[in-house]
Amino acid sequence: MKKLETIVTIDQVPIDVEFTCPYCEANISEGFEDFLDDQGLSWSDFYDRQHDPIKCPFCENEIEVSYEFD
Ligand SMILES: [Zn+2]
Repeated sequence: MKKLETIVTIDQVPIDVEFTCPYCEANISEGFEDFLDDQGLSWSDFYDRQHDPIKCPFCENEIEVSYEFD
């Protein structure tokens, strides 16, 4: 019998994010879900190579961003 195939998706579950605002130098550390909510992002946005700027929750300046996974 021919073997059938499936794809197993392994979820990466980030818990917290951390960044420093280059404008007001605030250190922001928050839960990943809160970060997505605050920034109006969704998980699928991270598959895109083009990232929209994020907004500092303190001074509200827009920040160019790249992501790295720990
Ligand atoms: Zn700021």
